[in-house]
Amino acid sequence: MEKLKVDPKSSPEGKVSNLSTARAYLLACSLLLLAMFLLVGVLLVSIADHLNHDAGEHSRIDIENALLSVERVAGSTVKDYAFWGDAYVHLHQQVDVDWAFGRQNLGSTLFADLGFEGVFVVDPTGRTVYSVIDGQLQTVAVQDWLHIPIEPLLAQAREAAVNSQSVSRLVQADGAPAVLAAAALTPGTDPSVKADSGPASVLIFIAKLAPQRLAALGADFGVQGLRVAPPGGTAADVPSLRLRDNAGVVQWDSDDPGHQLLVLVVPLVTVAGLIFALMAWVIQRRSTAAARIMDSNYATLQASRAALLVSEARFRDVAEAASDWIWEVDSQLRFTYLSERFDVITGLKGANCLGLAADDLLASDQGLLSNWFKDHAHRPNAIVQCNYLSGDGEPRICRLSVREIPGQGYRGTASDITEEVQARRRIEYLSQHDALTGLANRSRMQEFLEGKLKAVPTLEQPLVMLSIDLDRFKPVNDLLGHAAGDDVLNQVSRRLQGCLRGDDLVARIGGDEFMLVVAGMSSPLEVEGLCRRLIDFIEQPFYITEHEVFISASIGIAMAPADATLAEELLRYADIALYEAKESGRNTWRFYAGDMNARIIERRQLEADLRHAIKNGELRLDFQPRYRIEGKRLAGAEALVRWEHPRRGLLGPDVFIPIAEETGLILPLSNWVLHAACQEAAGWPDDVMISVNLSSTEFQRGHLVARVKAVLVETGLNPARLELELTESVMLNDEKVALDTMQGLKALGVRLLMDDFGTGYSSLSYLRSFPFDGLKIDRSFVGGLTASGGDQSIIQAIVGLGRALSLTVTAEGVETLDQLKALKDVQCDEAQGFYLSVPVNAQAISALITGRTD
Ligand code: C2E
Ligand code: CA
Ligand code: CA
Repeated sequence: MEKLKVDPKSSPEGKVSNLSTARAYLLACSLLLLAMFLLVGVLLVSIADHLNHDAGEHSRIDIENALLSVERVAGSTVKDYAFWGDAYVHLHQQVDVDWAFGRQNLGSTLFADLGFEGVFVVDPTGRTVYSVIDGQLQTVAVQDWLHIPIEPLLAQAREAAVNSQSVSRLVQADGAPAVLAAAALTPGTDPSVKADSGPASVLIFIAKLAPQRLAALGADFGVQGLRVAPPGGTAADVPSLRLRDNAGVVQWDSDDPGHQLLVLVVPLVTVAGLIFALMAWVIQRRSTAAARIMDSNYATLQASRAALLVSEARFRDVAEAASDWIWEVDSQLRFTYLSERFDVITGLKGANCLGLAADDLLASDQGLLSNWFKDHAHRPNAIVQCNYLSGDGEPRICRLSVREIPGQGYRGTASDITEEVQARRRIEYLSQHDALTGLANRSRMQEFLEGKLKAVPTLEQPLVMLSIDLDRFKPVNDLLGHAAGDDVLNQVSRRLQGCLRGDDLVARIGGDEFMLVVAGMSSPLEVEGLCRRLIDFIEQPFYITEHEVFISASIGIAMAPADATLAEELLRYADIALYEAKESGRNTWRFYAGDMNARIIERRQLEADLRHAIKNGELRLDFQPRYRIEGKRLAGAEALVRWEHPRRGLLGPDVFIPIAEETGLILPLSNWVLHAACQEAAGWPDDVMISVNLSSTEFQRGHLVARVKAVLVETGLNPARLELELTESVMLNDEKVALDTMQGLKALGVRLLMDDFGTGYSSLSYLRSFPFDGLKIDRSFVGGLTASGGDQSIIQAIVGLGRALSLTVTAEGVETLDQLKALKDVQCDEAQGFYLSVPVNAQAISALITGRTD
């Protein structure tokens, strides 16, 4: 995408507005126009002036020409008369007035017909010898009439006559211009007349240019109103001409073409100017308005350009900063734009992908993208998930948000959601599977079961639900560590799967609990066969590091539709059956039966009853005495709790202790036992010990040291007389806590005994690392003692160990004399059992103690 650069000169601040530009332009135009008009005006005036001037000049020339023509006519006329033999004879050689005037040769006709007001003949002496004025014979000297010296003229005339020419000039006569023509009298071409030697007389004709004649003369030459200027001078605006030979000044009416021009053109120019001005005004208004609009448009444009730049920059930043890439396709769904992020995210080359069809790059689960776009892209927030191969060839997933560009194609963003989808799938998987074994978990199993039940299993084709619980698994976990436990669980899950067909399901629903959903079993026998196989498989040894581990399993069976048709019921019944299987000695299976449920309900009822048992005083203690084998002296007694249930009668601890442990009632129960036992023992002689059993659950809960201490304080019992019996499981969960607690108890001064020794895995190692004072050999070993020996070697080893560790060794469950003898043989310290005494009540134990023999 091409980058737009911000040009500071084009910024709104840097730009002169259109309005002021337009105003400046208009002002300049107006000034130019004005100047033009002024120039035109000046030119017009100057042209008019020139015209006027030219017209004046023309008129002057015309007037002069007119006067010249008059002169010429007069000159030629005078020549005609002067170069005539008769006239030479009658007016030069002698002056014959009669011939001249009388006979009208040079008489009044010259005035009347030719317009000469004065006719004169001047003889060589300069005397006027003949004169006719206004057609009348008069005796007037020419110079007197004209008031000018005449001699130069006479000389010129005589001279010109040599060339047969006359002379003419303008003169003033009676205050008016007049044309004077003079010619020397000569015989002319008349051979009969002989010219005199000496100067000739000169004939002079004078024609006055009277006003009418002058006006007519002007008119003949196109000059109107030609007249003699008034004596006071002429007005400046009236054209005038000073005549040659000082003949005066004439003036005439100017036709004033300049004025005419001005009169004609000025209004036109004015009108044109006005029109221009008006137009200029209108244009100015319009262009000002336009400029204003342009200005505002420009400002808007600049603002929107700036906004565009900002938005462009923002888009670019967002496009580059976003984790999404931005795309555009044309109406053929070919890529026309891919943002820079495309390359980064997809690992593909955006430049190579331009022009590529969207379907070639992206694949949607919803079918071809081209079809999907047609159907869905017009909706707001259209989103489609697509798969594609990254530059590395890895399958990736992206989410396209699509927006239609009407008539052009589509655009939108693409977010890579590969990790999100994978995480979601992982979460989905985890929510459906057990993280450790990868088996289905409870919720997946329930879904599966519900699905299977919807297919409506029949009695002939039942659906079998197996609930499996591992036996003896907990010690593996506890003794070999969680990693080993996990290993066993994984192997178990593989073994279970190995027993099933593909469409059956194995689920792990708890620590060591599994559920199997099996279809296609036709008879209970077949189910039993499966259960046997499952248990056999699980009983195969597991090899965990260097250990060989043996566990087993109990199985509860429920079937649909025989037992139930609802998933929840089926699961519950399988659990009840499992409980029954465990109750009946483990390593076995049980089919669900209707009365099982009743037993479970009974157990729940017992739980409820136990809550009231303590405060209702339904508990009591029996005491089983323990004897020194050597000398058979009563050494102490073990407190054993009993529950006198109001309806069920006397219940043993094996029935309700597990319930108390499960429900947390063990703490109040144990407190009661401790208190009651110590109180009883406080009344016994100092050398009789009292033993109290502790549950491993209360051992972990803490406060045990404080509780024991409180009981000792309350009852006043010497701590050295109290023995606490712990089983190995106390130490299994958290050795550190166990050790701390045991040391705390030891600090109180009480003794610690290990109960049921030999039944666990590591009894021996525990004996070494924990502060025990004695151990009680489990009665299963004692039961194996016979007259012939039996388990004697084991008991002998245990006794030897106890002695080595300075522990008091007690044998439990001594039921026969032989057993007692055998124990005596291996030098076991103490014995307890029905053979010596069954557990008895407080009163009876007191009697036994009192009646003991030393
Ligand atoms: P235990 O600690 O091993 O207690 C001895 C059990 O063996 C007693 O059963 C006793 O009646 C029985 N017994 C004694 N001599 C013989 C014999 O010669 N042969 C046979 N077969 N059994 C004999 P009881 O009283 O039913 O107690 C069962 C278990 O309940 C005890 O086993 C003990 O672990 C637990 N228990 C009893 N009282 C309490 C108590 O107050 N608190 C706790 N936490 N557990 C108790
Ligand atoms: Ca015991
Ligand atoms: Ca025991």
